[in-house]
Amino acid sequence: MTKPGCPALFAGSGPLQKAGLPRTSKAFLNPPRLREPLTVLPGVGPALAAEARRLGLNSLGDLLFHFPFRHDDFTSRRRIGELKPGEEATVEATLEQIALSRTRRRNLHLIRATVRDDTGYMQAVWFNQDYLARLLKPGDTLLLRGACDGAGGTFRVRGHEILGRGEAGLHTTGFVPVYSTTEKISVKRLRGWLGQVRPLMARLADPLPPALRAGLRLPFRADAVLAMHFPGSADAGRQAERRLIFDELFLMQLGLLSLRQRFAQTRHSQALGQEGELTRRFIAALPFALTRGQLRACRQISRDLQRPAPMQRLLQGDVGAGKTVVATYTMLRAVEGGRQAALMAPTEVLAEQHYFSLARMLAGMGLRLAFLSSRLKAGERRSLLARIAAGEVDIAVGTHALIQEDVVFPGLAVIVVDEQHRFGVRQREELAVKAGRGGLVPHALHMTATPIPRTLALTLFGDLETSVIASLPAGRRRIKTWQVPESRRAGAYGFIREQLDAGRQCFVVCPLIEESEAVQARAAEAEAGRLAAGEFARYRVGLLHGQLPAAAKQAAMQAFASGETQVLVATTVIEVGVDVPNASVMVIEEADRFGLAQLHQLRGRVGRGPHESFCLLFGDPKTGQAERRLAAMTATGDGFRLADMDLEIRGEGQLFGERQSGLPDLKLARLTRDQELLSLAREKARALLAGDPGMARPEHALLRDELERVFGDQLEWLRRV
Ligand code: ADP
Ligand code: MG
Repeated sequence: MTKPGCPALFAGSGPLQKAGLPRTSKAFLNPPRLREPLTVLPGVGPALAAEARRLGLNSLGDLLFHFPFRHDDFTSRRRIGELKPGEEATVEATLEQIALSRTRRRNLHLIRATVRDDTGYMQAVWFNQDYLARLLKPGDTLLLRGACDGAGGTFRVRGHEILGRGEAGLHTTGFVPVYSTTEKISVKRLRGWLGQVRPLMARLADPLPPALRAGLRLPFRADAVLAMHFPGSADAGRQAERRLIFDELFLMQLGLLSLRQRFAQTRHSQALGQEGELTRRFIAALPFALTRGQLRACRQISRDLQRPAPMQRLLQGDVGAGKTVVATYTMLRAVEGGRQAALMAPTEVLAEQHYFSLARMLAGMGLRLAFLSSRLKAGERRSLLARIAAGEVDIAVGTHALIQEDVVFPGLAVIVVDEQHRFGVRQREELAVKAGRGGLVPHALHMTATPIPRTLALTLFGDLETSVIASLPAGRRRIKTWQVPESRRAGAYGFIREQLDAGRQCFVVCPLIEESEAVQARAAEAEAGRLAAGEFARYRVGLLHGQLPAAAKQAAMQAFASGETQVLVATTVIEVGVDVPNASVMVIEEADRFGLAQLHQLRGRVGRGPHESFCLLFGDPKTGQAERRLAAMTATGDGFRLADMDLEIRGEGQLFGERQSGLPDLKLARLTRDQELLSLAREKARALLAGDPGMARPEHALLRDELERVFGDQLEWLRRV
C-alpha cells in the first residue's frame, strides 16, 4: 500500500479514472523515472534491490520518500588553522601519508594520517578501521568530521568521506541525513542513492492547489522533499517537515470527509418524527435525572434522526458516563416511530450483557427484545430471524452476526454500535452497505467506552459527527487507586474483608492470559477456589469467565448483582457493561500485563453507586512502559487524560494498528504533537470539498489521484455506489 505523502507516481491511471472522472492534466505529471526500479542505479543489482524492498523501497520514487529519522549537524566547516581544541568540526584536507600503527592494547588499532590544507598540517586518527590504510591514498581529498584532542593535538575522526574532484560531500558537510538501514544497505549507501536521485526531487509535482499552499506558507513539495534529506538550514528542515506532515493529515481528512460526503449524497434514511410517548416514558421512569451531557447528546441525536440523511454519530464518554441510557433513547426513537432498532457489540459476552441491561431498563414497557446469540440452535435461530423479518422484534441485540446476509430487518431505522473503536472504517462501511436493504440505510450511533483523545478521534473518525458526555453523573467520587506490591498482599485482603463486612462487594480480575480463553478460564477457576478456601473463606465467592455456558454466566452475573455472592472472580469478560452499584472494590491481578484503556475500563466497574470505591492493582511491573501505565492509573481517574497518556506511552503506530482503523499509517505526523496542523488540515479539507465536492476541478486532479492511492480500497466501495 502506498503511504500518505507519497507522490502521485501513477497520476491519471487510478480507478477513479476508470469511473469516468476527468483525467489528470499531463502538465502536472511527475517524471516517469520515479517509477523505475532501483536497479537502474549504478552498482545496484537484483540482490541489493531485494534487500531494499525490506525497507519498502521498490522504485526511485520510494527512495525520495524514505526520509531520514534525524540529521547530523555538520555545518561547522573549519580550516586546519582555525580548529579549536575540543570543538567538533568538518575539515576538508588532502592526504599526505597514512599508516596503520599498533598500540599496546591488543584490541586497539590506530590509523594515523597526515593531512593538510592551505592553512597547515595535522595528524588525523581513526580507531580500528585497518582497511582505511589500503583504501585511502596520498593525494585524496578528504572530508573529516571530528574534533582535536587539544591545542595542536591529533584530530579524532568520527566520520569521513573521500571527495572526487569538485564534489561537495554527502556524509560530512551540512546537515547530514541519517536513515534507517539494513545490514547490506548502510547509511552511506543510502545517502549515495539519494544523492543520485536528487535531481528528480526538483521535478516532483505538487498536489496542493497553489492558493492553499501559498495561503499556508508551505514550501513546494519538491523543495520540501529535497530539504527533508538535505536541508540548507535547520529552519528549512522544519518547514519541509511541516509541509509533509500537513500533506499526510490533509489527505487523511480529505479521504474521511469525502467518504462521509458521498455517503450523505447517495444514501438515505428514514426521517423519524419528533420525540414521542415512548422516549418520554422511558426518561420519566429513570431513577435519576439525565446529566447535561446526556441531554445534549440526546438532543443532537434527535435532531439527526429527524433528517432523511443517515446519522453517523460517535458518542464518546468516559466509563460510567451513562452512554447506555443515550443509546437506549436512540433506539426507542426508532421504535416509537414504528421502526426497528439494533444494537451491535464486538463480542458475544458484551452483546449478552447489553441485552440483559436493556431488558431490565425497559421492563414493563411492552417492547419486544431479541438476542441473536451465536449459540442459538439452528431451529431457534431460524424462528428468531423469522420474527425479526416479520417485524415482530422491536430491538435486536447481537454481535456483527446481526448484519449477516440472512438477517432481514423490514424496518431497521437505527443501529447502535458499541465499542466503536474495535470496528474500523471498513466495518462501518460494511454496516452501512449491508444493513441498507430496500434503499434506506439505518441511522447509526457509534459508542465508545474507551475514551479517545480528540486528535485521534478526528483522525480515525473524521467521517463522524461527535457527541461527548464530558462529565460523570453527579455524586460520583474518584475511585481511589493503589498499586499494591506483593509484600502488601495480605494487608490488602484485610482491607477488602472490611469492605465486605460493611456490606460492599468486590471484583477480582484474573491475570490476562493471551494464549487462550480456556487457559484463562482455568486460571480464574483456580483463583476462585484459592480465595474461597483461604482469604475469603467466610464469604460467598462467585466465578465468571467466557467459557461458561450462557446460562451459567447469566446466573453468575445475577447472583453477584443481587448480592448473593460477595466476591466475583472473573476474567476480562467483565471489562465492559457490568453494572453493580454495590461493588466498591476492584482487584486486578498482574495489572502490569493490561493495557491502560483496559485497566481504566475494569476500574470503571466500581464507583457506580453511592459508596466510596477502590481499585487495587496487584503485580510488579517488569518494564518501563508497564511502570508508567500503573503510575498513570494511580495519578488520574480521567479517562481522557489517560487516553492521552496512553498515546504518549505507547506511541501512535501501535494504537493505529490495534484499532484496525484501516487507515494508512502516518509516517511523519504525530497526533499528540501535531494537533494544530490536524485542525488546520481538517478545516482546509472541509473548505475544499465544500467548494468542489467531486474534486473535479483541474487544480484538484493530482490531489484526487493521490487520495485514491492513499485510501486505496477504502474508496473502492464509493465507486460501487
Ligand atoms: P457507560 O457510559 O460506561 O456505558 P452506563 O451507561 O453503563 O455507563 O452507566 C453507568 C451507571 O450510571 C449505570 O448504573 C447507570 O444507571 C448510571 N447512570 C446513567 N446515567 C445517570 C445519571 N444521569 N445519573 C445517575 N446515574 C446514572
Ligand atoms: Mg457501557
